[in-house]
Amino acid sequence: MAHHWGYDKHNGPEHWHKDFPIAKGDRQSPVDINTSTVIHDPALKPLSLCYEQATSRRIVNNGHSFNVEFDSSQDKAVLEGGPLVGTYRLIQFHFHWGSSDAQGSEHTVDKKKYAAELHLVHWNTKYKDFGEAAQQPDGLAVLGVFLKIGSAKPGLQKIVDVMGSIKTKGKSVDFTGFDPRDLLPASLDYWTYLGSLTTPPLLESVTWIVLREPIAVSSEQLMKFRTLNFNAEGEPEHLMVDNWRPAQPLKNRQIRASF
Ligand SMILES: [Zn+2]
Repeated sequence: MAHHWGYDKHNGPEHWHKDFPIAKGDRQSPVDINTSTVIHDPALKPLSLCYEQATSRRIVNNGHSFNVEFDSSQDKAVLEGGPLVGTYRLIQFHFHWGSSDAQGSEHTVDKKKYAAELHLVHWNTKYKDFGEAAQQPDGLAVLGVFLKIGSAKPGLQKIVDVMGSIKTKGKSVDFTGFDPRDLLPASLDYWTYLGSLTTPPLLESVTWIVLREPIAVSSEQLMKFRTLNFNAEGEPEHLMVDNWRPAQPLKNRQIRASF
């Protein structure tokens, strides 16, 4: 690829396979969740989200999205249960969104696109760190939450209010005391399947857990996301919008539902 990967016509998802051949692999994400072929699995356990001790540190524009980073050096905020074996620590969350409210999510439900999608990224503590876990088939667990347009989400406003401080690639600010529970819906009913990171290097190490119930955010809140830039300061302005990968072939996979 002549340019670093991105979401444009010339470096977008259709090009990623040239530098990252696993893009055409057998367990790529996202996927469409076809609810008529999903299997309810009564053996799936409830999710156990223990976020009380979550310790957010910083928010950073990485040129593809923005990450809210957490201290994952101890078992502070962990995800267990559901389809998972063992303990997975929260390391960061980020979003994918559209250029309009009509698109933006990565997963789709019966081909329906939501306005945005939240990804809470966790790594399996049987490995030594995130980098090692990301190389393993059971290394990561990502909790996906859809965003739909409705009333403003109070928990999201703290994030919206710092967008101006992380406008361009490479910018970061301290971001402590954020409670990720403020971004979750009431129900933890979920779909689950085995997949990958949705950004290069597209590693096939993710157990996906996608919540059925979306959270509502206001159109004005999502508009603030669209004021971010893909570019670094001093470069031509390139608005950070449509940073989502489209659905990939399900191939030989089964999506299971907890409900
Ligand atoms: Zn993501």
